Amino acid sequence: MHIGPDIVAVMVGVAVEGPYSYRVPAGMAVERGSIVAVPLGPRLLLGVVWGPPRDNIAHNRLRDIAHAFDVPPLSEELLKLVEWVARYTLAAPGQVLRGVLRSPEALDAPRPVVAYRRTGHEPEKLTPARLRVLDTLMDDMAWPRPALIGAAGVSPSVIEGLERAGAVERLEIPAPPVVLPPDPNGNPARLNAGQEEALARIRGLTVDAFGVALLDGVTGGGKTEVFFEAVADTLRAGRQALILLPEIALTNTFIDRFTRRFGTRPAEWHSDMTPAQRARVWRGVLEGTVRAVVGARSALFLPFRELGLLVLDEEHDGAYKQSDGFTYHARDMAIVRASLAEARVVLSSATPSVESRNNANQGRYAHVRLESRFAEAAMPDIAAIDMRADGPAKGEWIAPVLAREVFAALDRGEQALLFLNRRGYAPLTLCRACGHQYQCPDCSAWMVEHRFRGVLMCHHCGHETRTPKVCGECGEAESLVAVGPGIERVAEEAAARFPEARRVLLSTDMGSHAQLRERFAEIERGEYDLIIGTQLVSKGHHFEKLSVVGVLDADLGLAHGDPRAAEKTFQILTQVAGRAGRASRHGKAFLQTYHPDHPVMKAMVGGDREAFYAQELLAREAGGMPPFGRLAALIVSANSQQAAMAHARILLSAAPMADGVRLFGPADAPIAMIRGRHRVRLLAQSGRDFDLSGYVRFWLAGAEKPRGDLKVQIDIDPMSF
Ligand code: ADP
Ligand code: ZN
Repeated sequence: MHIGPDIVAVMVGVAVEGPYSYRVPAGMAVERGSIVAVPLGPRLLLGVVWGPPRDNIAHNRLRDIAHAFDVPPLSEELLKLVEWVARYTLAAPGQVLRGVLRSPEALDAPRPVVAYRRTGHEPEKLTPARLRVLDTLMDDMAWPRPALIGAAGVSPSVIEGLERAGAVERLEIPAPPVVLPPDPNGNPARLNAGQEEALARIRGLTVDAFGVALLDGVTGGGKTEVFFEAVADTLRAGRQALILLPEIALTNTFIDRFTRRFGTRPAEWHSDMTPAQRARVWRGVLEGTVRAVVGARSALFLPFRELGLLVLDEEHDGAYKQSDGFTYHARDMAIVRASLAEARVVLSSATPSVESRNNANQGRYAHVRLESRFAEAAMPDIAAIDMRADGPAKGEWIAPVLAREVFAALDRGEQALLFLNRRGYAPLTLCRACGHQYQCPDCSAWMVEHRFRGVLMCHHCGHETRTPKVCGECGEAESLVAVGPGIERVAEEAAARFPEARRVLLSTDMGSHAQLRERFAEIERGEYDLIIGTQLVSKGHHFEKLSVVGVLDADLGLAHGDPRAAEKTFQILTQVAGRAGRASRHGKAFLQTYHPDHPVMKAMVGGDREAFYAQELLAREAGGMPPFGRLAALIVSANSQQAAMAHARILLSAAPMADGVRLFGPADAPIAMIRGRHRVRLLAQSGRDFDLSGYVRFWLAGAEKPRGDLKVQIDIDPMSF
């Protein structure tokens, strides 16, 4: 570390353009990456020293850096990542930096543990309380203060009195590390030949250079064991490893597997942690005491200084897209970070995104395959049930064929799963007398009935009302009907049809994360026969006894005009079907569909994923859609539709001409109103090699700024459109 120049640029962690210049007070040592506190207006803000000043402000008009924290500076690679992400997503760099400085508590010096030990010197006055303290400290062991107070049953003042009398000595023991370092040689699985080959290909990327592997293998193929060995390599090489999971707060299983493999729990990073826990992990990552992290997408911005490997498990998962604040896709940003850090990336999935498959096809990523399930486990048989011919009676949702299979599985003592990707009881409530449909007052969406809780609820803004007994429009009693199924309705039908089965209903609104984790543990212990659930059950879980899976509405995801609809549907169906027969039991999956001839259903039933990818890539290429083209969405929102539309038109008229850029809209966004805000969308489309972010930045810089209640949100690479 050197004594910095007397003026530096500091990026503050708020959504302003920045960086701004500050004076370094005498005696303060800072360098690029140092974390500091600086005054901005009336506030004191966290910031990071970015480098030499960029403007020529007179020395005497500058303010001083208020404080430099005693932690290592952020790595060069992380600062470059912040700049890159800001440039690409059009967020202010300070806003991205705020994602890095997520845990301000971490900057306080870690508090040492206060402990006491006997000195051997006897105090003149010996009360019974003092005697109890000295007796507790008999063995010359140091006791942490709270433990000593508890064991001796005294008030803190007794201990302080003994300290003043010189009978006990106060010790300050440094805070223990967050977690013990994982042991790369802990308890590795003996890999089979296919896994060995996959690992060799990943090792072929070399530890000290950037490279991406797409680990593309069937569910239950043993991908996790393979990337664990890549993590071990990274740890042996003295570098840090990050594993991202889409739904970390809900999985104990993964943490348990990591613990078994590496002999210690990984450090975790997700929204369910307390500020104190986050602070310890954040600081441990920066100081290098934390060697491996298992986290949600925001862990991508942790201050690693020696990052050697990033793993994205279930890389295709939609949860990797961050859509509030600044919008980014964790997969793409992980690859950027790895290239800046000269680290490796392993993207793991049984149903890779079309983007990643294309990159593998083009040779940009190593395409590493695991073709068969580990050990004897076979892939499930998948059948379509044609709902036009073989559907259930009116008012029921489980087709007779599926019901028979569920019965048979239950008879054999196995588990069955009924899947519907829709929360609540019914997506629409309708008055039979007057035709009134219950809509959210603030969103363009129907109110979804949640019967267990007795409410109608908007899934976009959370607005709730008690489920009415009479129609609010015409006043008819007993005229309201629930239209269509949600998962609660499936549970109701299952209760009537399979009354003997021990049933469990799982969807995100069915309890806290801790409660849901407990349900999963119970399922894994075989405490239920029939699992009824939404997409929550489709991911990552390994249910040994599950042999029959029924998808009640396999067409659900296909309904939208979204160009990614086929891909998303294919992924979720494959994931759900893949829950069946993971152990030695043979699994069967049934897809209830009105479109058995749809390419997605055919690919599922025929087990021909290659045909699906080939066809999907051709369709994307023909439409100039990602990954062959780029898209950017501009969402203009306002309290009135007219105002939003008028501003969108103004924006459109200000769009620069550029070869190969096509503009669409303005048109109502797919959800035209959310929380009372009307949304109008413009879409820009370009070829793959065009800098569409740069184009949009140039466009907005030259266009009228939104005023009043108008807002323009930019989504580069929108996931649904
Ligand atoms: P994937 O991540 O591809 O879905 P997993 O890694 O979860 O697959 O493997 C599926 C099952 O097979 C798990 O129970 C796992 O413990 C087991 N397994 C995989 N590879 C091995 C191995 N080499 N030795 C022992 N068990 C293995
Ligand atoms: Zn709403």
